[in-house]
Amino acid sequence: MAILPILKYPDPRLREKSLVVTSFDHDLQALALNLAHTMLAAPGAGLAAPQVGHLLQMIVIAGVENDEDFDDQVLTLINPRISCAEGELSWEEGCLSVTDLNENVIRAKTIQVNYKGLDGQSRQMEAWGRRAVILQHEIDHLNGILFIDHISRLKRDIYRRRLKKLQKEEA
Ligand code: ZN
Repeated sequence: MAILPILKYPDPRLREKSLVVTSFDHDLQALALNLAHTMLAAPGAGLAAPQVGHLLQMIVIAGVENDEDFDDQVLTLINPRISCAEGELSWEEGCLSVTDLNENVIRAKTIQVNYKGLDGQSRQMEAWGRRAVILQHEIDHLNGILFIDHISRLKRDIYRRRLKKLQKEEA
């Protein structure tokens, strides 16, 4: 297992669309393990393969204690699709690829996700609240969408300016 470097906004690779996974082979298993390891080390609640430079439709989310959906600490979802979304909620989000920013984003409150497991078998899960937010955030990454795309343009511009200043100070 390895901790992979996480791409940071505004890296253009974060804007690419990820490919559908078709082979559930050893390489995919290895990437899933590294992805999980990287997420837990960060630590983060979720991580998408494109965030570590692999344009594949795979995400991992961290489990919570006594959660029956998780046989392990981490759930891996491959080719996830939201099949049903209901309600609305506002939640403060951050992202391992977006340094030093937390903002409220409005998402669906309850979702149903169809996905494949690492064994290639189709599965379905329902999620609400925080977990629904995390899933929507990570699935967005597979389409090149970041949570800052969901905040106001003014807030985004302020953040961009702040980031440029930070980068200048670091240089
Ligand atoms: Zn993110």
